[in-house]
Amino acid sequence: MIPVTKSFIPAIFEYEAILKRAWNNEWLTNRGELVKELEDKLIKHLEVKRIIAMTNGTLPLQIAIKALALKDEIITTPFSYVATTSSIVWEGCTPVFVDIHPDYLTIDETKIEAAITHKTTAILATHVFGNPCHVEEIERIAKKYNLKVIYDAAHCFGVKYKGKSIFNYGDVSTCSFHATKVFHTGEGGALFCNDEAMFDTYFYHHNFGHDGPENFQGIGINAKMSELQAAMGLAVLPYISKIISNRKAIVERYRSGLSSLDLSFLTLREGTEWNYSYFPIIFKSEERLLNAIQELNSSNIFPRRYFYPSLDSLPYVKTTAMDISQSISKRVLCLPLFYDLKEEVQSDIINILNLIH
Ligand SMILES: *Cc1c(COP(=O)(O)O)cnc(C)c1O
Repeated sequence: MIPVTKSFIPAIFEYEAILKRAWNNEWLTNRGELVKELEDKLIKHLEVKRIIAMTNGTLPLQIAIKALALKDEIITTPFSYVATTSSIVWEGCTPVFVDIHPDYLTIDETKIEAAITHKTTAILATHVFGNPCHVEEIERIAKKYNLKVIYDAAHCFGVKYKGKSIFNYGDVSTCSFHATKVFHTGEGGALFCNDEAMFDTYFYHHNFGHDGPENFQGIGINAKMSELQAAMGLAVLPYISKIISNRKAIVERYRSGLSSLDLSFLTLREGTEWNYSYFPIIFKSEERLLNAIQELNSSNIFPRRYFYPSLDSLPYVKTTAMDISQSISKRVLCLPLFYDLKEEVQSDIINILNLIH
């Protein structure tokens, strides 16, 4: 079976050698040396200012909304993973969707101002498939209307925009280190904080509000990364350049092998140093997409409809329909893309798509 994605699994002895340190320390969580070492290495590797490693990539979104005390309306994208919208609703705020750009697939910044009301408190946008939003324009709008900016950068490990880490834009960025992402800790994630004054607040929020063993600074939740998760991250990190360069070669083969078909690819924003996190193709119709899925499935190949359905159709949101997002969602398919995808298998995928088109 060929899945859409597969985790990079380091050699077990390499993982064990790191785990052994947790055994020797008899220390499994609550910010042991492995979590701290992973954070230090990520700060250097990613060239970011501040990081808090967390247990997944969803809690940092919720913590950002909570810690910034956001209320009422948050402007967001309908084209993302469900966690982007559910985090807003979970924190008692109302998602206000702004449609996406049909080529970049990120929130259409030219439509944001029209959606702002006196109840708007923030913009929560996703750098979809690692493709940056128009961060300069979003920053300009946020300043003008005094809004906070949170980026769901779950797909963005290693992405740079105009020479600096994409995590350095906005008030806060979050990343997911889930097993299916480019860099992973099994389950895991992080919050990147660009507003230095807020760092402690986020930190308290991720650890029950603890300010010392017997003191509480305020309300908090448990989003701590464990030593076992950090050990996986430390075992995967040395391979990250190789992981990304393998993905790059696979993406280039897809681009040339599918270039004569009537499909479109993701348009990367100019100035982006990408991480090759996904390979979405956009068909002319949903019928063609369904046909392609059927043909690939019958050869035991399982691409995925990222992202479908469009989030404006979730049962727990009230909104007008987002036409572009709905249309793209029905026609977009992510093809298998992972570290050790074999060239022969990729050729089969390319051949099947060329034959049916
Ligand atoms: C994966 C993902 C998340 C959630 O991350 P988890 O680590 O699985 O909690 C959030 N947003 C987007 C866009 C994602 O792809």
